[in-house]
Parts: sequence; C-alpha cells; structure tokens
Amino acid sequence: MQLYDKTAGELRRLLDEREISSVELVRNVFDRIESLDRSINAYVHVRKEEALAEAEEADRRIAGGTNVGPLTGIPVSLKDNMCINDAPTTCGSKILEGFRPPYDATVTAALKAAGAPILGSLNMDEFAMGSSTESSVYGVTRNPWDLDRVPGGSSGGSAAAVAADTAVLALGSDTGGSIRQPAAFCGVVGVKPTYGLVSRFGLIAFASSLDQIGPIAKTVEDSAMLLEVIAGGDRCDSTSIHDATTSYTKALQGGVKGLVIGLPQEYFGEGIAPEVAEAVRKAVRVLEAEGAQVKEISMPHTRHALAAYYMIAPAEASSNLARYDGVRYGLRDREAGDVTTMFRSTRREGFGSEVKRRIMLGTYALSAGYYDAYYLKALKVRTLIRQDFDAAFAECDILAAPTTPTTAFRIGEKAQDPLEMYQSDICTVTANLAGVPALSLPCGLDSQGLPIGLQLFGRALGEAQLLRTAYTYEQAAELGGPLKPRLEVV
Ligand code: GLN
Repeated sequence: MQLYDKTAGELRRLLDEREISSVELVRNVFDRIESLDRSINAYVHVRKEEALAEAEEADRRIAGGTNVGPLTGIPVSLKDNMCINDAPTTCGSKILEGFRPPYDATVTAALKAAGAPILGSLNMDEFAMGSSTESSVYGVTRNPWDLDRVPGGSSGGSAAAVAADTAVLALGSDTGGSIRQPAAFCGVVGVKPTYGLVSRFGLIAFASSLDQIGPIAKTVEDSAMLLEVIAGGDRCDSTSIHDATTSYTKALQGGVKGLVIGLPQEYFGEGIAPEVAEAVRKAVRVLEAEGAQVKEISMPHTRHALAAYYMIAPAEASSNLARYDGVRYGLRDREAGDVTTMFRSTRREGFGSEVKRRIMLGTYALSAGYYDAYYLKALKVRTLIRQDFDAAFAECDILAAPTTPTTAFRIGEKAQDPLEMYQSDICTVTANLAGVPALSLPCGLDSQGLPIGLQLFGRALGEAQLLRTAYTYEQAAELGGPLKPRLEVV
C-alpha cells in the first residue's frame, strides 16, 4: 500500500485498525526518500535502522493496546538543530561537523516516548539564519513545486520534505518566521507556538528570546497531533510554561461563529504581491461565510518590526554562538600553534558568511557606547509591537495576514543581497517579537502555480482557538485536501 502521502490522521486510523504496521509505514517513507531526496535534498542525515527498531517497538505497543498515543507508530523528521542522542546534529554548519550530542532534546525525547519513529534530520539555513535554505553547508534544498526555486527557510528541509511526502510530519524552529515562511512556500501547514509552550532544551540556540519549535505538517489536524505531543513545561527550560497545554486535536471542531477576525492594514500594503494579498482576503471571506466577523484594524508599529528584529536576533546570536570556539564542539583547527589562533581560524573556517555577518552586527549592537542606541532602542520597539498586539486582541480574537510578501523565489535570486533576503520576513517577525502564536496554511496557488500562505495570529496560549480557525478554513475552502506538487521521480 502507498502510505507516504497519507496524513498522520489517516495513518492513525489505519494503525489503530491494524490495517498497516508502523514498520511497513516507515519502510514506505524510506523508499520515497531514497527515490526522491536526490532531487530535493531535504535530508542531511537519515537513521533508518534506528527508526525501524522504533517502529517495531511501536507495533508492539499498538498490538498490546497499551501506551498508545496520537503519534505511536507515526514517523517524524527533525530539523538539523534539534539534538538527537548520538546522531549527527549540525545546524547546517561546518563548525558542528562531527558533533553528536550526548543527549536528546526535550522534543526528541517526547517523540521517542510517544512511540514516534524518528527518520532523520532535515536541512536548514546555517544556524537557522536565512529565509531560503541556501546557506546550509549541505547545499540548497529545492522546492518540490519548482526545483529551481527555494523552499523558504530556515526550516526549508522540513517544509520541502512534508510537501514532497518524504516526511509525514516534521519539526521546524521559528525565530522570525522559519516555520511559517517555508510552510507557505511549500504549500504545507506550519505552526509557531506561543513563546514557551514548547521546551527549547536541546534546540541549538539562535536567539533565545525568540526561538520556538513547532510542527510542519500536511494538515491542521496533523499539526495539532504533533503539537500535543511536544507542548508542555520542562524543568530543563526555565522559559517553558507549565500547565498550559490542552488537547489541540479535540479543540478543532466548533467553527468560527461569532469570532472576530482582524485584518491589520499594515500587512497588506507596499511590497506585498497583489496576488498574495488577494488570496488572503479571499480566504478571510471563507471564514466570514462560516460566521466570523471581519474587521479592518491598524497595528501602527509594524513597519519598525524588521529593523528591531534584525538588531535583537543578531545580538542574541552573537552571544549564543560564542561557544563555538573549537574547544567543545565539532570543528577544531588542529594546526594552530596557540589557543587564540585556534579560536580564530576555527571560527573563520567553520562559520559561513551570513553567520559571520550576524555575529558582527550583533557584537556591534551590544558593545559599550552603542548598546543604548541600538539594542536598547530595539527592545523598546519590541514593546511597542507587543502593545500593538495587545490592542488588536482587545477587539479581535484572531488576526489574518499574508505569511510572505511573495511566493517562492528562485534559487540565487536574493542570495547576494542580504537586505532583500531580510525583507522576506516582513510579515512573520512580529509574532516572535510579541511572543504570540501564529501559523501558516495554504490558501491557493498564484498564477505561476506556486502556493500562497494564509497567516493567522492568536492570543498568547490561544493555540486551541487558532488551530480551530485554521481547521475551519481548511474544511470550508474546498481546496480538495492538502495541496500537492506534481513531482516526477527521477
Ligand atoms: N529569516 C529569519 C532570519 O534570517 C528568520 C529565521 C528563523 O526564524 N530562524 O533571521
């Protein structure tokens, strides 16, 4: 039976009715990976033997009828910045070459405990800095909808694999849009949870006050299934929130009657492709027909968000990345005669140019004399943006906007111009700055046949309502199930 293209929801039913086994499913997805990943380049590391052993164990659990949860037997693939015990975890960077963490990230451990086989690690922009997956040491990942285009980033491998059916479910991380933007470019669903809902322990840090792990999946239901397993407080992450989770799958039904959906005008202005804006407005009309009330609103500080983000994120990164010095992890220049030379040459060789740019920008912003003018000011702007969200959520339940200003761009198109690349994040960085949850789901194709993403924002810890709204749209939109690229196996 062809299983790799089924949703996790469908697979759950097939596994529970004993029509398929997890081993059969995992083999089937690996067949797909082996025939297709050559042209997509989503995987940087696979763990076939281990995944098959995990699938066998899951089958035993299902047969015994004990300890069976939503993901028991359903495989998940991880972005290459989440630690898997004793498996290569490299963040798409040469500097982590050969690094095998001695422990599992909390999300990895949660998936293992849930009985989800872990298939391997997925490509990403180096240290999650980027919007195209072009800066990975493993080379670019290609968008399954058009192999000459980027899949978005930085979780480009995760989104491309789910779109190409080489992963059933994937995890991504989102610091400024890295789950939602690639999900939009690849026509899949991506959820950035509230800051703190999912533990960051064992997620290789980029910008700690912004980073969140979240699901990338074929449907809203699948995202809810995955979120349910990974959400929850964790003693190992002091920023994680305890006792805040609910059953997200149970929350999907109920519709949007009476819900107030805000359309912030700032997300529909200059720089947004008219086709994208129109598709989003059309999607909102579907929700209106389902009983939601739609309201035009203003979030006046939105235009400062990108500038604030590109000050705060590099500042935190410059501090987080100081630990890669050739002593503890991965690469080391063994020829250097003294320790300072070793630090220098390891970092020179190990980091790519975008990572170096961020470290320099961040170090500058944090340095004495400039701290107040840049970093502190950016933090003040962050507060204003959070207040925009507070005001919006005082009168609306959900906000709707485009996920990205355009659909997927061509490989190489923005690689030489960092500022152009940074513009890709214009609609997504606000949710990270404010800490609120946001998701992207497909809302149609543009005239070139490329997927368009509808972004929905919710109140902090409002994931249940956010997912319900997305689910209601997905069911009502008559897109006929998940959007599928036409892919030929070569
Ligand atoms: N594209 C953004 C950046 O380059 C966001 C990255 C992310 O969310 N990890 O910083």
